[in-house]
Amino acid sequence: MPKQIQTTEPLPQLLLVEDSHTTHALLTKYLGRNYQLIQANDGVEAWKLLNSDREFDLVITDVHMPNMSGHQLLVKIRKSDDIRHKNLPVIVMTSAEDNVDRNLAFLNGANDFLIKPLDEMELQARIKVHYRLSRTIRELEASKRALAAQVTTDSLTKLKNRRAFFENGGTALELAQLKKSELSVILLDIDYFKKINDTFGHQAGDEALMLVGTILTQMTRPEDTVSRIGGEEFAILLPGVNRLSAAVMAERIRATIEGEKFVSENKIVPITVSIGIASYAVDYSDSIDHLLGAADRRLYLAKKGGRNRICVNDEGRSSFA
Ligand code: GH3
Ligand code: MG
Ligand code: MG
Ligand code: MG
Repeated sequence: MPKQIQTTEPLPQLLLVEDSHTTHALLTKYLGRNYQLIQANDGVEAWKLLNSDREFDLVITDVHMPNMSGHQLLVKIRKSDDIRHKNLPVIVMTSAEDNVDRNLAFLNGANDFLIKPLDEMELQARIKVHYRLSRTIRELEASKRALAAQVTTDSLTKLKNRRAFFENGGTALELAQLKKSELSVILLDIDYFKKINDTFGHQAGDEALMLVGTILTQMTRPEDTVSRIGGEEFAILLPGVNRLSAAVMAERIRATIEGEKFVSENKIVPITVSIGIASYAVDYSDSIDHLLGAADRRLYLAKKGGRNRICVNDEGRSSFA
């Protein structure tokens, strides 16, 4: 008797595509303890199941079946755009004398074949190998995606980081040039942040950074990129937004943060920000560094002018009104 896999995980889902009840009964006997077997009687049924909400870990298919053959099913799986089908192992069952079917199965992208009559040990071993391999590939791809997200994410605020700002900014600027559309940048720095840390503690400082991040995310559109580009410095990319609209938005952000009642350990922590804005069309920017540089000059003027204010141009104005 095969030993049962000792695990608390749900059983791997195995789709068995087979029109013969004898083969189905045999596979259930050999595999039923370690796998959840779901049967389809032909390729059409299998294809429906594969495109349903159900998740499968492996497919074993017969070749000759009514309606849709195992070959046709395999081709559909390999051509599918569904991410779930990408690394789905498919094992084709052929009879010993059928070289043509076997070769065709491999040409169509089968991972393996099994020869009927099925040998229990071989069946167990092959399925285990393919199941484990595909699970490893899936795990690797998931960690690759997680790592890629980490590289562009600020760990404290979960906003985009400085690197992502320049990457997205470069793309957004190219798009603005191509489409002759606008692109604005809002650069924001928390006022006297050092004092917030010194007075209320580093933890309160971190919470203030997170709060500002949340406010900025809530006040922007999904197509805007909100990033933390330095310690207490945030930049927002606003595709399609001209400097007048960016100024209105910056002033709203400034007022909202000033009006926010932030409490840390029962003490009210006042937070204000200074903001500089720049826009592609009026600042003649040919690079994102240039655009950010213009916003930075105005941020400096806003600080010099007394803080808790916005600055929209190199003359130090705080609005276009
Ligand atoms: P200004 O109004 O001129 O901007 O003054 P400021 O005090 O905000 O500016 P300064 O650059 O002197 O100080 C920034 C402080 O931000 C210093 C640094 O310790 C703090 N800081 C940087 N990163 C973090 C962080 O991740 N968490 C916390 N709590 N503090 C940070
Ligand atoms: Mg058949
Ligand atoms: Mg500051
Ligand atoms: Mg700063």
